[in-house]
This record gives sequence, structure tokens and C-alpha cells, in this order.
Amino acid sequence: MPEAAASARVGFVGLGNMGWPMAHLLAPHFELTVLDARTDVAESFAAEHGVAATTDPAEVGAAADAVITMLPNGDDVRAVALGGEDGGGLVAGMAAGSVLIDMSSSAPLGTRQLADDLQPHGVALVDAPVSGGVAGARAGSLAIMVGGAPGEVERCRPVLEPLGKAIYVMGGSGTGHAMKALNNYCSAAGLAAACEALLVGDRVGLDPAQMIDVLNASSGRNAATEGKVAQEILNRNFGLGFTVGLMAKDVGIAAGIAEGLGLEAPILAQTRDLWREAEALLGGGADSTAVVRLWEEWNGRELGAGPE
Ligand code: NAD
Repeated sequence: MPEAAASARVGFVGLGNMGWPMAHLLAPHFELTVLDARTDVAESFAAEHGVAATTDPAEVGAAADAVITMLPNGDDVRAVALGGEDGGGLVAGMAAGSVLIDMSSSAPLGTRQLADDLQPHGVALVDAPVSGGVAGARAGSLAIMVGGAPGEVERCRPVLEPLGKAIYVMGGSGTGHAMKALNNYCSAAGLAAACEALLVGDRVGLDPAQMIDVLNASSGRNAATEGKVAQEILNRNFGLGFTVGLMAKDVGIAAGIAEGLGLEAPILAQTRDLWREAEALLGGGADSTAVVRLWEEWNGRELGAGPE
């Protein structure tokens, strides 16, 4: 990226729930080129923001000093970055000295492999996954967890700054992605614990809405009790914008890290299994807050039904 980073050209791949509001925040600061598998989405973004859209990853690479990927998982990032057997990925267009910033929640081992595979092309990889959800993406208040070579990470800062309230440099390649998976394990377990407590409390005669007030004033509070239960679950809105499939993927990555290291992590393994079951029951596209339906299904009662 040039020294005058504010004038840098940025490519953005993946304009979904997170990517669209993130690219929206970058558009005023950078010369943007966008791409999404849903070409109509990329075209509407481009028309709305007066930026370029293309269907060819190599064109995004050629038009950018830094390319951001915000895709479902690391396999998607790898496919877009390296292209197929005939080539044609981002790397076919990216100049030596440019950088790929993977802001997706990818698996760290795959990230390290991709960094190695990009190296011969002179393209650096920085992992910079985020937390804070769609609301954080809209507000530019995401927590960003960054891994990569220190010089490369510093070069990326001007591109990351409009997106996040806090940028945490975790260490070498893949460490941002490891941190993100472990964060989402805590988030997934916290949401599951809140659902379970609500179902049990409801059955014993406690009012779920009052339970949330008490939890939030007490030591049982977590991100789910504070930001998901009243907002998305009790009203059965189920519209957080983060899917069961993505949560299952993230907890699976975290459990895979523990297993790869031969560590005993029973709550992590159980949380992974629970979210897999949720994915099987609800479908990967269901909102993660609909996970409460698992307990409802197991117990044959909807939350709010009260004592028998
Ligand atoms: P999403 O499914 O809403 O968006 C993904 C986008 O990528 C879609 O627009 C899709 O068309 C596009 N896409 C998929 N494959 C593609 C390909 N090969 N080439 C080009 N475009 C492709 O997902 P999201 O919720 O925006 O999540 C994106 C990433 O961010 C995931 O890794 C997720 O785990 C992570 N994340 C999501 C949230 C959230 O609250 N939604 C929060 C933090 C992190």
C-alpha cells in the first residue's frame, strides 16, 4: 500500500450482512472496487456509492493496494484469493507488495497455509476478523483482532480504523482468527446458557423478561442477556443477522484448535455439538438467536408457556 494510505485503492469481496455496512464505511475514504457472488448486490452497492464493481477477482486484485475479504469461511477466501485450476483469483491481479486482509472468521491453520501460498506472489496476508455484529459494522465500532507480520499489520491500520473502535494486535499469522474463534465459543456458550436458564426459570414460574433484568443487574449477565434475549428472543424476532451456520462454524474452529493441541476442553466440545444440532434442526441460515428452539423442541414447550 502507498505511504499516503488515505488515498489507497481498496478491494472489497463479500457484501453480506457484515461486508455491506463495512464497505459503506470505507467508501468515503478509499477508491473502492467491490465484488460479491451475488452480482446484483455488488452492482447495487456500486451504484449507491459511486464505486466500481466487477465479477472478476483478478480485476479486484489489479484495482487495489489492499483487498478485504468478508466471506463465510476460510475455504471461500482461499478459493477467491487463489482462483481455480486455471488461476483467475485475486492473486492473478494483485501486485507484489499489496496485501490481502481477511476479515472473515476463518480457521487459523488455513490462514497460515494461505499466507505461505501468497508469499511467492509478494502478497502479504493479514487476518483481521471482527466482533460486534451487524450493529457494530454499521456503527464502525467493531472489535478487530489482527494477526500477521508486524510491518504488514501497521500498513493495514488506515484501512481498519474506519471500521473499528479497538484494534487488537494478537501476534503472527492466524492469531486474529484463533482469537475470534475462541471469542465466539464464549459467545455461543453464553447464549446457550442464557436460553437454558430461561427455559428452566419459565417452567419454575419465573417471568423470563424479569429474569433478564435480574441477570443484567447480576453476575449471570453476558452479551446474550444484555443484547440478544430481550431484543431478539422474547419477542421472537430472531433477527440478529448472525446465522446458526456461522456460529456452528466458529465453535467448530475453536474446538478443532483445542483438539489439534490434544487439550481437554469438554465445555467447548459440548458447545460445538450443541450448535451442530441446532444447525441440523433449524438449518444453517436460521438466525443464531433462534437456537432457543432447541430447548423448546427437547422439552416440548415454548419459552413463555410458564409452569404446567
Ligand atoms: P453473509 O452470508 O451475510 O455474507 C457473505 C457474503 O459473501 C454474501 O454476500 C455472499 O454472496 C458472498 N460470497 C459468498 N461466497 C462468495 C464467493 N466465493 N465470492 C464472492 N462472494 C461470496 O455473512 P456475514 O454474516 O456477513 O459474515 C461474513 C463473515 O463475517 C463470516 O466469516 C462470519 O463468521 C463473520 N462475522 C459475522 C458476524 C455477523 O454478525 N453476521 C459478526 C462477526 C463476524
